[in-house]
Amino acid sequence: MTSRDGELAAAIAAAESSYRDRHPASARAYERALEHMPGGNTRSVLYYSPFPLTWASGHGNRLTDVDGREYLDLLGEYSAGLFGHSNPIIQAALKQAIDDGLVLGGPNVYEASLAAAIRARFPSIELVRFTNSGTEANLMALSAVRAVKPRHPRILVFDGAYHGGVFYFRRGSSELNAPFDWLIGEYNDVEGVRALLREHGGKLAAVLVEPMLGGGCIPATPEFVTMLREECTRSDILLIFDEVMTSRLSPSGLQGALGIRPDMTTLGKYLGGGASFGAFGGRRDIMARFDPALPGAFSHPGTFNNNVLSMAAGVAGLTRVFTPAEAMRINALGERLRAKLNEMAAEREIPFQATGCGSLIGLHFCRGLIRCAADADRTSPQSQRAQDAAETLLHLEALNRGYYFARRGYIALSLPTTDEDCESFVGAVDDIFRRHGRVIEDLH
Ligand code: PMP
Repeated sequence: MTSRDGELAAAIAAAESSYRDRHPASARAYERALEHMPGGNTRSVLYYSPFPLTWASGHGNRLTDVDGREYLDLLGEYSAGLFGHSNPIIQAALKQAIDDGLVLGGPNVYEASLAAAIRARFPSIELVRFTNSGTEANLMALSAVRAVKPRHPRILVFDGAYHGGVFYFRRGSSELNAPFDWLIGEYNDVEGVRALLREHGGKLAAVLVEPMLGGGCIPATPEFVTMLREECTRSDILLIFDEVMTSRLSPSGLQGALGIRPDMTTLGKYLGGGASFGAFGGRRDIMARFDPALPGAFSHPGTFNNNVLSMAAGVAGLTRVFTPAEAMRINALGERLRAKLNEMAAEREIPFQATGCGSLIGLHFCRGLIRCAADADRTSPQSQRAQDAAETLLHLEALNRGYYFARRGYIALSLPTTDEDCESFVGAVDDIFRRHGRVIEDLH
């Protein structure tokens, strides 16, 4: 351990001790949860050391923890919380749905309206079906394309991609991944991936790609997605855009912003208005295979696919709250926040950068252009540890100042967020760098 590592460890220990002092009720909630769930946790991404805050309530873009402390919510429920915690239009839609009765066991008055609103916003989606999560949406989309192309079992995905709990690809395929025949390419590697597609084309059913890698918020270059579209068309491979995270990045998703028409799209997160949600859709000839009136139709029965809470909140959210104008506004706010964070880090000469697109932001303790997951990694385990330590320190210090985002440096702005909120956050990060800049300025 270098003396710099020791200083970083001491700074983390001090921040952690102050965190423990401030959050006795969250500590107790964690202790109790530990007795009943592995690691006290039922959603891996929510764990961070020494223990996560337990939330008591949320209003607008503010969260209150069980110790009664208030936070600016910059996590936005990993982008599903786009509407904030108490949008009156969404609340009214949910109350109406509850008043009219749950679990009706048949088609309801909302689902076709939500399908119509989604089709209107994302023209590549000619027909759509709903699921309960983004994971399930990807599972259904992949199963469908594989059934459509039974002689082409392979699926191309990208290093660093996350498409759900059973679709995680970082330095290979995770041991929990669903058993598809995966081929893994490097994100934004135009020529390398073109070569892969030409080599494996005869075996590939589909390419599954996030138009911005959500892990790290690394946008695809226009050249990369254009190449994917051209090569998929050329070799008769289906192009699936996972827009679970990115569909909010323009009025018509990143596919609209990039001008690319995928064959299939998967959706999730905020499109259920804050209730559980997923959807897959795309080309009519593929989706029509799910028409249950047809002999040999693909089966997709899902008990909660059309649950009234997600359907009602989803329609209200997409048609009355997240209008195209609101999409432009919140993404412009994100661009301003990212630029300010980058200017501030450059002025302080901290090896830190904010990446991403619009209202989704990734924070990285490294210099240089990040075009794929490996670019954000450190070259040695020792420097990787230092980078992780810097992330931990920033996160704990931000929490201690009342700002909430993901430990891995992920921010998803929600609609109630203002320029003043962003400015106060930049001020807080600036203050953290002023205090600790010396121990993180020469991470290498
Ligand atoms: N795809 C992407 C790109 C995601 O970001 C996520 C969730 N973070 C998923 C799929 C999975 O969605 P869910 O958590 O709803 O299963």
